[in-house]
Parts: sequence; structure tokens; C-alpha cells
Amino acid sequence: MRRVLTVLVAGALVLAAGPVAVAQEGAARAGAQRPQTQQPVRFAPAAQTTVSGGDVVSFAFAEPVSAVVAWWARAGEPARQLPVTAATGAATGGSVTVPAPVKPGRPHVLSVRGTTPDGRDLRRVVTYYGTVSGRPARVGPATTVMTGRSPVMGRGGRLFTFTIETQASVDWQLQGLAEDALRALFDEQRGWTARGSYRIQRIDDPRSADIRVLLARPPLVDALCRQAGLDTGGIVSCWNGTFAALNLTRWVTGALSPRFASLEQYRTYLTNHEFGHGLRLGHRTCPRRGALSPIMQQQTGGQDGCRPNGWPYPR
Ligand SMILES: [Zn+2]
Repeated sequence: MRRVLTVLVAGALVLAAGPVAVAQEGAARAGAQRPQTQQPVRFAPAAQTTVSGGDVVSFAFAEPVSAVVAWWARAGEPARQLPVTAATGAATGGSVTVPAPVKPGRPHVLSVRGTTPDGRDLRRVVTYYGTVSGRPARVGPATTVMTGRSPVMGRGGRLFTFTIETQASVDWQLQGLAEDALRALFDEQRGWTARGSYRIQRIDDPRSADIRVLLARPPLVDALCRQAGLDTGGIVSCWNGTFAALNLTRWVTGALSPRFASLEQYRTYLTNHEFGHGLRLGHRTCPRRGALSPIMQQQTGGQDGCRPNGWPYPR
């Protein structure tokens, strides 16, 4: 039995939060670079967050594509490839049927990819939750993922894989996020790989990533962080066990503390700090007045007598 997806209460809450996010971003957008990244894939209805087996999820590409592939997986389980309906040749859209059974309340990831005639990869990943009858489902974010994978960086230590993602509605920020976040993470002298304690690799499959670096509007950051019992209050970022959830307002306008030398320095700190939580590291405090802050010191609001620092191993 097929039925059209229904918007549940959780989805409506996200929509209700939308205008707040737009207002907070207003000042930021003017100074930011406009889109190097176009909307690659659109899922309809966009606000859909919950599904049952047999539901049909449709999608549309921003331009004609071929070689459309869709996968469906529950978190932590192998992905299943899904047959795609009506998305071959120069198609701009298609649909997939959600396989049963869907586990109630558990995150399931739908990934759709198409290839343009000139060989570019258009890809979108959406997290859905299985319908829980009688109570609202948790909200899963629709995200856009940077495609491709990097070499393994670093010379020793446990390997952590990670993705670079933006909330789908701000995916014009993806290019800028990738540039600044990867500059921070792949610095071989000062970054996490500098001492041979960690190896890291960027991948493009959120299902298998140890760390999902996500740039998102404050309401989504807050929702994700609340899952881990953290109150980010619309103004700061967190690690929630899966996402290094970076607050878009902070990313674009900088720290609350005025002492960071530049926006780039703050972005380096923000990326390396939340990624450090993903490496299972906890908080540190300022060791003595005038010293450089340890990277795992919370620095967004101030440095408690230390000096701002964005590097795991500053020189
Ligand atoms: Zn922290």
C-alpha cells in the first residue's frame, strides 16, 4: 500500500522556527559570498521528517541528470540500493518507495545521486525517522554533503572519518565551509594529525562517518544539541555524538568574544574544537593568565585570561 507522506508535528516545529533563523542570518548574508553551490537535489515535500514502509519519497534535480542511484539505510546498518522510478536519461526527477519495515523512531537515511552530462555529481542526503504512532517523531535534518573523499591524513593513531555538510536550506554555504573547515582540519603542522595521534579522512557517506561536520541555522543546531542534553541557546555550537553542529550565525559573524584576531581564526577554532569532541576529547580550562587557550577550552564567549587559539598544536 502506498500513501503520500504526511507532515507530523516535528516537521511543523521546524517550519515554525524558520523565520527566526532568517532574521538572525539577515546581517550575515549580505557580506557572504553567494552561491558557488546550487541546490543539487530537492526532496518533496521538503519538510518531511517521518516515514513508514511503502511511503513514496520523490525528488527533483536542479538540472538534467543520468545514472541516478538511491540508497536507503538505517543508521549503523548496511545501505540498500533502491530502484528509482522515472529518473533515467535526461530526467530531472524521480521517486523511491520506502522499504518496509521502518523502525519507529529510528533514523533512516535516504541518499540520492545523479550525474550531469559533464560529469558532475549531484547528491543529497536526507535523514528520516520511522513513524511513531501516537507521539511526534524526532526531527532529522535534511543536509547537503560535500562529495568526494580525501586521502587519509596523518601518520598514526585511530582513523576518524568525517563528512562536510550544510543544512539543506543553506547549502550555498557549502563551498565556504569546505574551504575554511578543511584548511583547519588538514593543517599538518598545527592540526589534529600533527603529532601522529589521529588520522582523519573526509568521506561523503554520512552513514559511515565517525563525525559529521554540519553548518546549520541556530534552530537546527539547538534541536540537535538538545538530543545530547546540551542547551546552545541559539548562539553557540556543540558536538552531539554524531554532529559537530556549527551555528551559522557564529560562523558568519564570529565569536561573542572580541579577542579573536579574525573571522578565519574563529572558524579555525570552532571547527577544530567541535571536531575535537568528535575525537572523544572533553573540555580543558585556561592553564594560566596570558597563555594560549587549549583548543578544547570553550572560547566563543571569552578566554578566561588566556589568548584565543584555534589550533590543537599551536606553534
Ligand atoms: Zn566544547
